[in-house]
Amino acid sequence: MKKITVCLMLIGAAHFVDAQKISLGKITDVASKGSKALTFTNEDAVKLSKESVDYMDKNNAVAGPKDPYTVRLNKLFGKHKSQDGLTLNYKVYKVTDINAFACADGSVRVFSSLMDIMTDDELLAVIGHEIGHVKNQDTKDAIKSAYLKAAALDAASSASSTVATLNDSQVGKMANAFLDASHSKKQESEADTYSYDFMKANKYNVVGAYTAFKKLALLSEGGTAQSGFQKMFNSHPDSNKRAEAVKKRAEKDGLWKDPGTVTLPKTKLTK
Ligand SMILES: [Zn+2]
Repeated sequence: MKKITVCLMLIGAAHFVDAQKISLGKITDVASKGSKALTFTNEDAVKLSKESVDYMDKNNAVAGPKDPYTVRLNKLFGKHKSQDGLTLNYKVYKVTDINAFACADGSVRVFSSLMDIMTDDELLAVIGHEIGHVKNQDTKDAIKSAYLKAAALDAASSASSTVATLNDSQVGKMANAFLDASHSKKQESEADTYSYDFMKANKYNVVGAYTAFKKLALLSEGGTAQSGFQKMFNSHPDSNKRAEAVKKRAEKDGLWKDPGTVTLPKTKLTK
């Protein structure tokens, strides 16, 4: 099982089994030496992120234009493609891992298994969270560190202070390392705040952010048949705490509506 901790969601055992796990190609042996002298610009981050995303798009089942997942994401994300001065693009990966991630070039990828368990309001909260990561440039650090690993920079090659062109195998390594990277708790919390503000400004139901975290908490608690899943959640920010933070703000704003007991859906929510 491949672990992805780029973002809000965690991977794990499939909730519904109908697709492939996210594929990172056949990449091994990621080195970890880096060069501190490297000048790494925003342009570099955008260019390398695009290369990584292109690689991941090529190695995973991307939902086609008429696929129900794409149709649903168009409905939710379509009007936010130019959000907050950013130029964003989005796609659905038809994979069993439950996740979503964003890259410095404005690419957001949402996994179908996440769309199976989240309502529209909850998905909007995830989208807002991912846009927050792009806006806050959180993904720049992740792609820089992934680049350094992929290029396997050592003392000799670090004489070069600019970003080199990577070959295909190195791009694969970079994508792999990027997906292995995780944001700090502070970055996650700031993306949560961004998401809440995004929901509020667009008059979406902010309680969706609360129930989304509650569902993640349920996934982390629920796994007798999902032992690996549970383990991974243990190292992640507490979903229940993040849900409570949303509730607190919503109450303060007069936007809180008690959703009752949150449960995981028994059938897929993308039709
Ligand atoms: Zn995140």
